[in-house]
Amino acid sequence: MTDTEKAIKHFESLQKRYTTQHKGEQCKFVKCAIEAICEKQEREKWHGVEHGLLTTWETPIQCHNCMEHLSLDWSFCPECGTPIENNEREE
Ligand SMILES: [Zn+2]
Repeated sequence: MTDTEKAIKHFESLQKRYTTQHKGEQCKFVKCAIEAICEKQEREKWHGVEHGLLTTWETPIQCHNCMEHLSLDWSFCPECGTPIENNEREE
């Protein structure tokens, strides 16, 4: 389980406790936090892995400098900062 998944579980249990203590009412702040974390999880899913570490998942392009696997919508390599030349991008 990823840290993000753990965070969602954590806030969900917090929400459950709040709901019990407040006669079924939800805490809007906890709700807001859960929504934000879910968004983060969606982004991570889309990119496969969190940024910043040398990754091994399959992507169409790699950094020429350090061979980091790159997502098509990144403009710079997250490992070494080399600008990504992406010729397949829309003209
Ligand atoms: Zn690189």
